[in-house]
Amino acid sequence: MIEIRHLRKSFGGVSVLKDVNAVIGKGEIVSVIGPSGTGKSTLLRCLNLLERPDGGEILFQGVPLLDRHADVPAIRRKMGMVFQHFNLFPHLTVLENVTIGPRKLLNRPPAKATEKALELLEMVGLENKAYALPGELSGGQQQRIAIARALAMEPEVILFDEPTSALDPTMVDEVLSVISELAKTGMTMIIVTHEMRFARNVSSRIFFMEEGRIYEEGTPEEIFESPKRPRTIAFIKRVDMEYFRLPREDFDEPHIRARARALADRHHLSEEQRACFRDVFTCTLRDVVFPVTEKIDLYIGVSQTDGRFGFAVLWDGPFLDPFERVPETAGRIRANCRSAVFSKTDDGRLEVRVVFDR
Ligand code: ADP
Ligand code: MG
Repeated sequence: MIEIRHLRKSFGGVSVLKDVNAVIGKGEIVSVIGPSGTGKSTLLRCLNLLERPDGGEILFQGVPLLDRHADVPAIRRKMGMVFQHFNLFPHLTVLENVTIGPRKLLNRPPAKATEKALELLEMVGLENKAYALPGELSGGQQQRIAIARALAMEPEVILFDEPTSALDPTMVDEVLSVISELAKTGMTMIIVTHEMRFARNVSSRIFFMEEGRIYEEGTPEEIFESPKRPRTIAFIKRVDMEYFRLPREDFDEPHIRARARALADRHHLSEEQRACFRDVFTCTLRDVVFPVTEKIDLYIGVSQTDGRFGFAVLWDGPFLDPFERVPETAGRIRANCRSAVFSKTDDGRLEVRVVFDR
């Protein structure tokens, strides 16, 4: 239904979408998760052309949206959008809010539009509010109206941008359950959400966005049970993490030490824990990793769920366990931490991961 190729978008020289690629089939329910500011809303807005991408391609049912000759209003009508703030017309009744699009844009006769609207209001459990004004309704009810309004346009796909994040917590469930019901009808949906349990239950696939890309994607089980890449792991397992990319000679940079110290401060690591980390860390990099590679990606993190802390070093090269070259050092390292393992990541990189118990 939707194919996205090398999509790019910048705002004022800041690259927000760097290279987004995805294929979304009919009837799929894709949840887009990730830290804020990583371009999730921008991606949705580019999909229905509320933003003009700078480059790349979007095919919607095989039609290139960014083509000069594309019929943008017609395409946009096929993509419903539900926003964080419901954007209902305050001076129109609920029924008028739901029928105005079909009457004005699809030229439906009023009686037909009304009949359909009442059906949809029933579906979202608000048929008794047809003649109310939006201001008389709770946030949760307004969002359910906004969903009915999107459906009234008979879209092929619905894009949800954090549909529950502006709601009082007591109203989140009523909106999520309407979306879950809709999912069962076979509607194609793309949902940006911070509701992880919901994303997990309702989705056929999860996109984890980071750095303006779909950094990792998979089934809900894959992403939530066994995420593979460091930033996904950090996000899912709620690890507070610092990341560095370094050539060997920058190893002892003051800013690395400062950020590691700030991390330790945030999580109240004791002097003893810091000293232990420092010794193992220095020894691992100097004696185990740097002899085999000069260029590494380095992650230092503290888990907010179990308090464990540690570091991971990733690099590219032949699959040779660097601990085996220095068995005595490896023994000393392993005696001072919970685990120190070498492995190959699923995307083919080499990794040494060292974890300490709290
Ligand atoms: P997310 O939805 O993942 O939180 P957004 O797509 O809203 O992220 O935003 C990504 C980045 O793009 C943010 O840094 C944001 O400030 C910036 N941004 C988004 N829209 C605009 C805009 N219209 N003009 C300038 N900057 C924008
Ligand atoms: Mg957003």
